[in-house]
Formats: sequence, structure tokens, C-alpha cells
Amino acid sequence: MKKIAICPGSFDPITNGHLDIIERGSKLFDEIRVVLLNNQQKQPFFTIQERLQLIQEVTKHIKNIQVDVHSGLLVEYAEKVQACAVIRGLRAVSDFEYEMQITAVNKKLKDELETVFIMANTAYSFISSSIVKEVASYGGDLSGLIPNVVQTAFEKKFK
Ligand code: ADP
Repeated sequence: MKKIAICPGSFDPITNGHLDIIERGSKLFDEIRVVLLNNQQKQPFFTIQERLQLIQEVTKHIKNIQVDVHSGLLVEYAEKVQACAVIRGLRAVSDFEYEMQITAVNKKLKDELETVFIMANTAYSFISSSIVKEVASYGGDLSGLIPNVVQTAFEKKFK
């Protein structure tokens, strides 16, 4: 049976840090599903449609990938696509507590679903979607930290 892993997130927007985790994850599993979680509690900067398009654009070189949007529990999505694992990126100790909490909840909801952590590339370990939004809002140079299409999307928004 195909081993499918899910890479969930809000990707608001996708950064080179996310992309690095997705690329590395795609080499470990037969298929990767990037799941854009439509989380009602967060007020996003980019719309779902914009985020989806950006992810599709920057991951088109990866062959064993599919990008989806999901509203609701991650375990429901995992069930639907028969995924065996969730891939998360770990940047620093500060990520650990939150990740431990959601891993434990997902395990409680679906015991067979394993969470696999990939250590962030040190070149990107300081990047988050929030920090890139802040820098972009002041017109700062984000080259090398976000894909070019994301840079263009910021320029359009801030025009
Ligand atoms: P969430 O709101 O679920 O944390 P994000 O879009 O912020 O969604 O992040 C999705 C995943 O990508 C998380 O596992 C997060 O730790 C990871 N991630 C975010 N930024 C980076 C980065 N710079 N390097 C590696 N992993 C990252």
C-alpha cells in the first residue's frame, strides 16, 4: 500500500522554510498531501485561493504531491486520504510545546496516525509566515527567504 503523508499548515504565505520541509518529506513517502487548513480562528493575510495557488505554483516540480484545502479536523482528512503520517517542521524549542500538544491530540483522535518531525534547515529556521508578513509590510528584502512568486504576491497586495 502507498505510504501517504500529510503536511498541514496555514501557509499564510508559504515560505522557503515550508518548501524545504515539503521537499524533504516528499522523498520519505510515496505521496505527500499538502493540506491548507481553513482555520476559522486565524484572520489570514492571503485568501485561501491565493495561498492555494502559491503553494501549487512553488511545488509544481515535486511529482508525488497533491495540494488540498480542508476545513475541520486533520484526522478526518487523514482518514479520507488514508494517510499514515503527519509531517511537521521543528524550528526551535519554542515550537516544541505546541507541536507536542497537537501531536498528543491527534494521537488521541486517531492512534494509528504518526507525526514525523523534520528539523528545519538552519538557513530557514528563523523564518515564520508572521515574520515575513511583517518584513514585507515595511518593504524589506525577503529574497532567499520566500519564493519569488510569493514576493510578487506581497508587492501586489501592498500596492
Ligand atoms: P501552523 O499554523 O499549523 O503552525 P504554519 O503554516 O505556520 O502552520 O506551519 C506549518 C508547518 O511548517 C509547521 O509544522 C511549522 O512548524 C513548519 N514550519 C513553518 N516555518 C518553518 C520553517 N521556517 N522551517 C521549517 N518548518 C517550518
